[in-house]
This record gives sequence, C-alpha cells and structure tokens, in this order.
Amino acid sequence: MTEHTPPTPTDPNAAALAGANSDLAATSSQSWTDRYSHSVMDTFGTPQRVLVRGEGVYVWDADGKRYLDLLAGIAVNALGHAHPTLTAAISAQLGTLGHVSNFFGSPTQIALAETLLNLAGAPEGSRVFFANSGTEANEALFKMARRTGRRRILALEGAFHGRTMGALALTHKAAYREPFEPLPAGVEWLPFGDLEALEQAFATNGEDVAALFIEPLQGEAGVRPLPVGYLTRARELTREHGALLALDEVQTGVGRTGAWFAHQVPTIGEGVVPDVMSLAKGLGGGIPIGAVVAFGTHAATLLGRGQHGTTFGGNPVAAAAALTTLTVIDRDEVLDNVNAVGEQLRTDIAELHHPLIAGVRGQGLLIAIQLTGEHSSKIAARALDAGFIVNAVNPQAIRLAPPLIITSAQLEPFVEFLSSLPRTADEL
Ligand SMILES: *Cc1c(COP(=O)(O)O)cnc(C)c1O
Repeated sequence: MTEHTPPTPTDPNAAALAGANSDLAATSSQSWTDRYSHSVMDTFGTPQRVLVRGEGVYVWDADGKRYLDLLAGIAVNALGHAHPTLTAAISAQLGTLGHVSNFFGSPTQIALAETLLNLAGAPEGSRVFFANSGTEANEALFKMARRTGRRRILALEGAFHGRTMGALALTHKAAYREPFEPLPAGVEWLPFGDLEALEQAFATNGEDVAALFIEPLQGEAGVRPLPVGYLTRARELTREHGALLALDEVQTGVGRTGAWFAHQVPTIGEGVVPDVMSLAKGLGGGIPIGAVVAFGTHAATLLGRGQHGTTFGGNPVAAAAALTTLTVIDRDEVLDNVNAVGEQLRTDIAELHHPLIAGVRGQGLLIAIQLTGEHSSKIAARALDAGFIVNAVNPQAIRLAPPLIITSAQLEPFVEFLSSLPRTADEL
C-alpha cells in the first residue's frame, strides 16, 4: 500500500482535505484497492476496480482502462455518465439553491412531483413523497401500509425491497434478514407467480391484508418476469379486499423497461393502476433520490402531517437531477431507444446459440442472460477483463442494465465477446 503523507497542517481542515484529494489522479487501481480495504467497511467485499471517470456509456478505472458500462451503477445512470444536459442542470441548481429544509418548498421539487403524477397517469388527489433511496421509498410504503390499521402484509418469494429494517422485513432472502431479527412483524411471502397461492392469501382473513408488495419484474432475483395476468389478478384481489397494491418500481421504473413504469408495459401490467409505487435508482440519473407516488386521495392521505419526514427528501439539486433526467428521456425519445436496442440485444444473444447460454429474458434494457450452469461469476470476471461491466445477479444469470441511451453499435463488441466465450464450462 502507498503511504500517504499529507502536507504540514496549518489549517487542519485544509490539511485533511488535501490528504483526501491530493493524489486522486495519480494512484493506481491496486493501491486504491489497498486503501479501500483499510478505510471502507467490508460490507460490499473488495471492489472489482476503482473507477475514476465516466463519459456516455463508458467508464475508466484508475489504471486508465476503459469499460463499456452494461450495469449503469445498477440501473441508475439512465443517461449514462457526465451527460452534458444533466451536468449543467445540477450545477445550475447547486449554484442557485442547493438545499432547503422541508419547512420550505422549491420549484424543482414541485415540478418533479407534478411530472411524476403526469407520467404515472395518477388520478385527481394523488400525491408524491420524496425520499433519498429505494429502501427509504419502501420504508414510506411500509408505514402507509401500517396506517391502514390492518396487520397482514403480503410480499413475494424472491422479493428485494431494500436493507433498512422495514424494507428488509419485506425482503425475502433469509441471509439478508436473519442477522437483524426481530424485524417489523406481519409479512407473509407468497410463492412467486403462483396465482392459486395469491387467491388463497385473500380467501381467509383477506380483510386484514394491508398491502401486497410486488416488483413488476423481480430485479435482484435475476430479472424474473411474473406470469402474464398475475398483476391484473393482484389488482382485482387487492381492490376487492380494500388492500393496497404496492408496486416496487425502484429498479423497473423511469424508462428501464421501455415504458415510463413497468406496470404500463402491456404484457406486464395490462393497464393496472397501483395504489402506491416506489421509485429510486434511475430517477435522479445518478444523483440519490427516491419517491413514492400515491394514487388517489385514500393512498395520498395515509401519512398525515408529522407522520413521516426526511431532511434531504425533495432536495432541490436531487429534484433538478430527476426532472432533467425525465425531460431528456422525453426530449430524446429514449423510451423508443430502450425498446429497440433491448429487443435487438436479446435477439442477438439468442441467435448466438452459445452452449453456455440457456436463454435471455427481460424487458427493455433490464435483461438477464440465463446460463446453463452456475457460471455467472467466471463469465462476469472474464467480461471485466475484456472491458465490459456486467453483474452476476445470481449463480446462473448475468444481469445487464446499461444506460438507456446506449446504441446497438456500442453493444456489438459485447455480443462478440459472448460469442467468443469458451464452449464448455471447464474452459472458463
Ligand atoms: C435497489 C432496489 C431497492 C433498494 O434501493 P436502494 O436505493 O439501494 O435502497 C429496493 N427495491 C428494488 C426493487 C430494488 O431493485
């Protein structure tokens, strides 16, 4: 590890800053990784690379090597890296009004709320609550569910809703939950995509169901689509029993699936309108922001004055980032690009007929390459060495969630990389 010697301090703050920043450009990836391991908590394990710069669909590591970013910070950098319009909007807002408390409103926050309501086709009486992340948006949904006065909360097996205690209580994976029990009570998981189990969950004590939480397409579980018709039936049953249909669109929202929100994709939602929806990841184009959209007066008034809050939620800069991301997606017809490029990529991968690839699934630019065995880590590592950032979302699947502005031409080298993979697992 490279020892770092800060300049002799005169002003202790200046010295501390110099210590953190002076060699930002000059240090190698390996020495950054060493420093990381001595300063950053180990929750994420050793970083694959230390990245220093991004532009469009590419990022560069500390050694100057370029990567095609097919993960986009996990479905976050919708407009890629350093998008000029987004950069300008964020800088302008920061130079105008960077932060105010929620005792005050700001134009970007208000305009963003209006825009989200419009894009969601939300009826009269609908409202938005701003948070700072996906887990926080879901935390708000959890509190809304509690405010119904009902005790049961339904979620699906394989669900990922976040890591704070409420959102974690909804998350299915035992390894994430168990070290932190006891968690908020009342959550029941239903077998994924099982319509009969869904009917049964409402058949007895259905009047005590506060909410049914669903990801329209399960992201962390490996880009798993629900069977056609599931969401429609979920909507009917929740309406019949007066329960909230809570859609977690943290990963699928904001154009990722080729519609503004995944439940608007005909094959997924068939015109379903949820009661509440959570958003985050792609919303700010890389700036942290989360949001809850509550559809109609009932949902929008579950959290009354003083019943929820956050210091940063709706921060003018984050709101400007989100507003600009939405504006550019609209202005540049990015949804059409998502549909066309996603379709082309799935077709190209399927047509490789590679013996290690069992299939390809997903919607828009949220895609999983299903493998014939548990090869995802090895393939992801090979991809990285070859200059492609992908994600081994589970042992048998590679997830792709590139910037929504990526072109088919930019993806060609990745398809070539896949075709050049060894034909058998032993050679990986
Ligand atoms: C990522 C994700 C979350 C958690 O969002 P954070 O911003 O990481 O807290 C919640 N739900 C879904 C579906 C996600 O993909």
